[in-house]
Amino acid sequence: MILLGSTGSIGVNTLNIARKFNLNVEVLVAGRNIQLLNQQIKEFKPKIVVIDREEDIHLVCHNNVLFGQEAILQAIEQSTSTTVVNALVGFLGLKPTLKAIECGKKIALANKESLVVAGKFIDQTNLKPIDSEHFGLWYLLQDKKMDSMMVTASGGSFRDYPLDQLKNVSIKEALAHPNWSMGNKITIDSATMTNKMFELMEAAWLFDIRKLDAVIETKSLIHAFINFADGSTTAHIANASMQLPIAYAILGKVDEEILKPVDLVEVASLEFRKIETSRYPIWEIKDEILNNLDLGVVLNAANEVGVAKFLNSEIGFLDVAKISLNAINKFNNVKVNSLDEIFEIDKEVRKYCES
Ligand code: NDP
Repeated sequence: MILLGSTGSIGVNTLNIARKFNLNVEVLVAGRNIQLLNQQIKEFKPKIVVIDREEDIHLVCHNNVLFGQEAILQAIEQSTSTTVVNALVGFLGLKPTLKAIECGKKIALANKESLVVAGKFIDQTNLKPIDSEHFGLWYLLQDKKMDSMMVTASGGSFRDYPLDQLKNVSIKEALAHPNWSMGNKITIDSATMTNKMFELMEAAWLFDIRKLDAVIETKSLIHAFINFADGSTTAHIANASMQLPIAYAILGKVDEEILKPVDLVEVASLEFRKIETSRYPIWEIKDEILNNLDLGVVLNAANEVGVAKFLNSEIGFLDVAKISLNAINKFNNVKVNSLDEIFEIDKEVRKYCES
């Protein structure tokens, strides 16, 4: 496989699956964590390595190291592997997704931003999402009339935090997810609930449905529900680990144990909560977004600016959602007619939000 984002949370889990199933890794792409990358090179012996910056090349223990975003596309083109795992974070992941599809490769897509910003233009024939909620929905699909789909949210780092103190939370507190450890950006997206909005958009593209909603389930054991027209609801239950969706996305079929089954007696009880706009202001625009998925490029660009500013101590936590809501308000009439327009709108929204 070609693994983009090997040193991240999904990347490391993907290599756990590669190790377990003895899969060949032809290309490793990482950013700046050269120490971990070197350990991965030693174990998986890729033919090509791509990193973010030229100045780090001398630190990489490999004789075929490229750098930069164009090099990621080149590596996809030059490789013989038929599977690309895209675990890059943010808008940066879009071009590699498009390149993988253009090259006729199978794409295991963790980079949800690709679908959020360009779902309309992404051919899903050879695409499998790496996200627990969409995996859960796929697992539950049956040949029966569906009414609606629902995914669960953990509620993120501040689900139990006093509302009146949210404006003063620290970066460290925001990065302390209650249920698991993930990359910084998705952890902030989870705290603002923007991640769940992205997942509803992802589900809209993947399952061609707009009757979608989310609910908080605090233990993160249920990942998805399908409500059928006959009035019954099914739920996907599994211990929280990305290895299950990753294994399915890469292998297609899995007959051996990836995770320990959930012990319901030990779990004893589950708690569900409504997603309140007082705690998660981004949820105010849920219907607007689902009615116009073209807004994904606006929401994503504004959110990337906001998250980066927050992580850089330039703004407070509540300002992250404010930046997104402001951008959606300003660009609410956006219509996307081509991929080129996506790159233009992304730039324009970033410029607006930066100012
Ligand atoms: P991380 O931040 O942990 O990992 C991101 C990866 O991308 C790292 O390997 C990083 O390298 C690499 N990277 C960043 N910038 C560059 C660059 N300019 N050039 C090359 N490589 C780069 O993120 P996650 O693994 O948490 O998330 C990845 C994607 O998967 C996101 O879209 C997220 O929304 C999605 N996702 C994540 C889940 C999770 O459980 N973590 C669950 C479902 C979806 P380095 O660290 O070396 O700088």
